Amino acid sequence: MGSMEKLVSLCKRRGFLFQSSEIYGGLNGFWDYGPLGVELKRNVKDTWWRDMVNGHDDISCLEGAPSPYEMTGLDCTIIMHPQVWKCSGHYDLFHDFMVDCRQTKKRYRHDQLCGRWVTHRDKKAFVTSQEGDEADENIERQAMKFFKVRAKDKDSLEYDGKTVSLTTLDDFAEVLGPDAKELGTLTEPREFNLMFKTYVGAMAGEEGAAFLRPETAQGIFVNFKNVCDSQRVRVPFGVAQVGKSFRNEITPRNFTFRSREFEQMEIEFFCHPDRSHEWYKFWRDRRFKWYTDLGLASERLQLRDHHEDELSHYSTGTADIEYAFPFLNEGEFGELEGIAHRGDFDLRSHMEGKLDPNSNPLTLQLGEDGKPKYRGSGKDLTYRDDLTNEKFIPHVIEPSAGADRATLAFLCEAYTEDEAPDDKGNMKTRTVMKFDPRLAPLKAAVLPLVKKEGMPEVAKDVYKALKAAGIAAFYDEKGAVGRRYRRQDEAGTPYCLTVDGDTLKDKTVTLRDRDSLEQIRLPIDDVVSEISKRVQ
Ligand code: ATP
Repeated sequence: MGSMEKLVSLCKRRGFLFQSSEIYGGLNGFWDYGPLGVELKRNVKDTWWRDMVNGHDDISCLEGAPSPYEMTGLDCTIIMHPQVWKCSGHYDLFHDFMVDCRQTKKRYRHDQLCGRWVTHRDKKAFVTSQEGDEADENIERQAMKFFKVRAKDKDSLEYDGKTVSLTTLDDFAEVLGPDAKELGTLTEPREFNLMFKTYVGAMAGEEGAAFLRPETAQGIFVNFKNVCDSQRVRVPFGVAQVGKSFRNEITPRNFTFRSREFEQMEIEFFCHPDRSHEWYKFWRDRRFKWYTDLGLASERLQLRDHHEDELSHYSTGTADIEYAFPFLNEGEFGELEGIAHRGDFDLRSHMEGKLDPNSNPLTLQLGEDGKPKYRGSGKDLTYRDDLTNEKFIPHVIEPSAGADRATLAFLCEAYTEDEAPDDKGNMKTRTVMKFDPRLAPLKAAVLPLVKKEGMPEVAKDVYKALKAAGIAAFYDEKGAVGRRYRRQDEAGTPYCLTVDGDTLKDKTVTLRDRDSLEQIRLPIDDVVSEISKRVQ
C-alpha cells in the first residue's frame, strides 16, 4: 500500500477515477469512474451479486448458516413516495450537525472538528482542526499563528491533555476555528438534513416535493409483500439491491470515501425472530470473509461490534467492517460496511397506521396523545408461514456495503511498489496494482514483440479470440515491450501474452504473470481456456 497522493495520481493517470465536471473546476463530493475504474467497480458489484445472489445455492446449507436460505434481487427507483422517508425516520432524523465559521465562511461537521486547549503566557484558547489527516500538526500550526509564536519558540506553548472532539464543548467563546484568526467565530451547531430534495412534476411547491434516496434499503422493505407474493419465497430469505444513493454530506472528503453520490450494495435478510441472532452472527462472518477472500489483508481489516450506546433503539446488534485506509492516522479505521440487526422496525413502521390520502406526507400529523397519527401504509406486511401457519413480522439483518468504498479499499490494497527488470535487464522500481484477477479491469494484454514479421496479425487473432470469449483484453503494439508491461502493471492486468519470433514457428506465446513476473510458454490454442481458468 502506498501513500494516498501516489494512488490518486495513478488513478488519474491510468483512468480509474476523475473529478466530476473537471473541466469546470470539479464539483466537491462527486467523482467519475474512468475506463479502467468503471470495469473495476463493475467487477466489485458483479462479484458481490454473484457471491450473494446468483451464485447462491438455495438448497444446501452454507457453512455457519443456521439453515438453507433463498436470495433474490430488486432494482427500485431513486425517487420514492416521500412517506417512505417519513416512516423510515430519515425525514425527521437523518441529519448531521454543522457549524459555520463567521470569519472564514467555511462549514464543518460538528462531530468532525477536534481540538486541544493551548496556553501561552496566561492566554488560553481551544484550537481546532478537522479530524483525521494531520489534525495535531494543524493545531500546532494554528496555535503558533494565533499566539504569534515563532517555530524556534514553539516549546513555549502548553497543551492540556489529548485532542478531543468539539462535541465535548458547549461554550464556543474561547474556540479558535480551523483557519480563523479570532476566538469565538464558530456558530452553535445546527441541524442539517442530509437528503437531497427535488420536485416531481409541474408543481414546484411543497406538494411536489420528493427526495433522492439516501439508502437503497427502503425500496426493499416497501416491496416486501410484492416479493413474497410473486416469488413464493419462504422465510428465511434475503433480497439484494445495488444502486445509487445520495447524501448531501457536509464535508465530503478522502477521495471517494465520503461522496455525495455513491453506490450501495445492500441485503435485507428476513428471518424468524427466534433465529435472528444466529443469522446476525452468520452475516457478520460471511461478509467479513468476502473482503478477505478478494484480497484485503486481514491485518488492515477489522470487524468492530458497536457498543451498546452506539446502537439504534431498535437494534440488538450492529457490527462494522472497517479498513485501515492510508488517508487515516495510524490505528484508525474507516467503515466499509455495516451489518445491523434491525428487528422488525422497518416493516412495522411501513405497516402500522393509515396514510390519509389527502394529507401532505411531509408534515407529521400528531394524534391527541402527541404520537404520530398517520404513519405507515396501513398494508398488512406480516408473513404467514404456509407450512406451520404461523403469522409474524420477520426480523431483519441488514448487511449494507458501499460499492465505492469497497472499490477504494481494493485500489489501496492493490497499490504496490517493487523491483523489476527493465528492457535492458536493469532492476528498476515498478508500480503494480495487484488486484485479485476477478476484480482486475483487464484480464489480459496481448502484445506483439515487434510491429513486423507477421507478429501483429497473430497477436490480433489471439486478442479477438479472448474478446469473443467475453474476456476483457487489451491489444497494444506501440513502443518497447518493457514499457508496455509497465503500463499493464499499473492497470493491474494479471497476464500479458507476448507474440514473438518463436510463436510463428511453434504456435506458442509467452504468458507473463504480473505479480511473480514468471514467464511460461503456452500453446496459442490453449490461451482462452487458460486465461478464463486463471481469472475466475
Ligand atoms: P458514515 O458513518 O461513514 O457516514 P454510515 O454509517 O452513515 O457511514 P450507512 O448508512 O451504514 O453508513 O451506509 C452503508 C454503507 O454505505 C457504508 O458502510 C458505506 O460503505 C456507504 N456509504 C455511506 N455513506 C457514504 C458516502 N457518503 N460516500 C460513500 N459511501 C458511503
